[in-house]
Order: sequence, then C-alpha cells, then structure tokens
Amino acid sequence: MKITVCMCRVPDTATRIVIAASGTSIETQGVQYIVNPFDEFALEEAIKLKEKAPGSTVTVFTVGKDDAQKDLKTALAKGADAAVIIKADGALDASAVARLLADAITAAGGTDAVWCGKQSVEDDAAAVGPMLAALLDLPCVTRLVGFESDGATFKATREIEGGREEIGGAFPCVFTADKGLNKPRQAGLKEIMAAGKKPLTSTTGTAAAATVVVGMAPPAERPAGRIVGNGAAAVAPVIDLLRNESKVI
Ligand SMILES: Cc1cc2nc3c(=O)[nH]c(=O)nc-3n(C[C@H](O)[C@H](O)[C@H](O)COP(=O)(O)OP(=O)(O)OC[C@H]3O[C@@H](n4cnc5c(N)ncnc54)[C@H](O)[C@@H]3O)c2cc1C
Repeated sequence: MKITVCMCRVPDTATRIVIAASGTSIETQGVQYIVNPFDEFALEEAIKLKEKAPGSTVTVFTVGKDDAQKDLKTALAKGADAAVIIKADGALDASAVARLLADAITAAGGTDAVWCGKQSVEDDAAAVGPMLAALLDLPCVTRLVGFESDGATFKATREIEGGREEIGGAFPCVFTADKGLNKPRQAGLKEIMAAGKKPLTSTTGTAAAATVVVGMAPPAERPAGRIVGNGAAAVAPVIDLLRNESKVI
C-alpha cells in the first residue's frame, strides 16, 4: 500500500498568542512551533497500517517551509519512509493547502490511504482532510478514534454525540485522526540515526487562496471573580446570583 500522511506545524498551545498589528494574523516572533497534535495520531496509525501490510510505504507531506525539516526527520525516525516539503509562495487557505497536497500526492503516483489530523490546532478549520478527499475523488472518514484493517478493507470507529459509529469500507480512502485513536510512539536513538539516510525532499506548487482572513480578535476579557461568602453561608448568595444575575438556573 502507498500510505500518505499530511502533517502541519502549529504554534505550541502553551504559547501566548498576540494578534499582529495588521489585525489579520498572529505575531510569529517568539512563537514555538510543534507538530499538530492530531497529526501525531495520523502518523502513528499510518505506521501501524504499514506494519500490517508488508511492502507498504509511508510518505509524509507538509505544505510549509524548510523549518519543517526537523519535524519530518522525527516522522522518518518513527517509521515513515520518505518526506516531502511542498513550498508555495503567497497567502494560503485550507483549499489552497488541500490543492497543493492533492497535486503533490498525484505527482508522487497516487495513494491508497491518506491520514490527516481531524483539525489543526492553529486555524481549527477541520477542512483540509475532506477537501483533499474531494480533490483526489476519494471517500473520507473523519474523526477516527478506532481503526482496524486487513490491508484491503477497514473498519473505522467515530465518536458521535452520545455514542460511537462504525464505518466499513475499502481502500483507497482519506481518514482524519482524533485524540484517542492510538498512543504515538517515540523514536529511539538507532531510528533517529537511520532516519538521516531516508529521503527528505522538497517540491514547489502553486495554489491561490479562495478566502482571506479579514479580522481577528482575542476573546472578551472575563470579568474578575467575586467572593460572596465562605462555606455554608455562601450557598444562598451564590444561588441568588446564579438565578437573578447570570440567569443560568
Ligand atoms: C506556507 C503557508 C502560508 C500561509 N499563509 C496564510 C495567510 O497568508 N493567511 C492565513 O490566514 N493563513 C495562512 N496560512 C494558514 C493556512 O490558511 C492554514 O494552514 C490552512 O487554512 C489550513 O487550515 P487549518 O490550519 O485550520 O487546517 P485543518 O483543515 O484544521 O487541518 C486538518 C489537517 O489537514 C492537514 N494539514 C493542514 N495544513 C497542512 C499543511 N500545511 N501541510 C500538510 N498538511 C496540512 C493536517 O493533517 C491537519 O491535521 C498559511 C499556511 C502555510 C503552510
């Protein structure tokens, strides 16, 4: 099987985000970048699938810049066979990223299974996976928390409101990974050394953004807390405030 993983870099969720003077992007100076956490689950599931289907390969694609190399080397150390950085000039949105990925995957000879994260914790669009599936003309199963495969067919589990849903299907297909799908592995020293010999290449692509961010705003400041009493004496005033001020009961 030719297995594909789409991986992106996002600001570390612990980073304090500051909106840039333009009002349409964030200040990138001083921001620490990490691999999108959902993409770690996607990579792990792709490697597990490869291990179950001997002769398979895993290729990781990132639309980005050379600074993605460090993360891609880690993906190679964990078990991916090749990694590609797709470079593109200009502003990008989800549809442009999906178009760049689809073109690069097609140019690399197509795929039997694509693994994306369910969303990036940067823009939270949850759009690239399904858009990519549409561009590749493949089915798409989103937000997986379970996955089993015999190499030809699969059974995927999705978490839905109040329960779980099981979807069966056959490859090729695009999947998006949710938290809980698996426990991503760590690479050992031997694998890290061996990863240096695996191909990490770059290519260029073009795709125009179909949307633009016209404004960003931080969440409204939360009002300061109020101490209305201690112990049992606080119960009556708290109930009064919940009923008459916040009107939540
Ligand atoms: C080079 C570059 C320039 C950009 N320029 C702008 C800009 O000018 N203005 C602006 O507002 N935004 C810009 N962006 C951000 C871009 O709009 C978002 O990355 C894009 O819309 C994806 O949306 P999302 O982050 O919500 O991903 P989601 O749709 O939530 O991501 C879901 C999954 O798709 C895959 N994926 C997402 N992004 C990538 C990627 N880059 N490479 C590989 N796989 C990916 C991952 O598997 C991810 O888990 C830029 C991004 C890049 C890489």
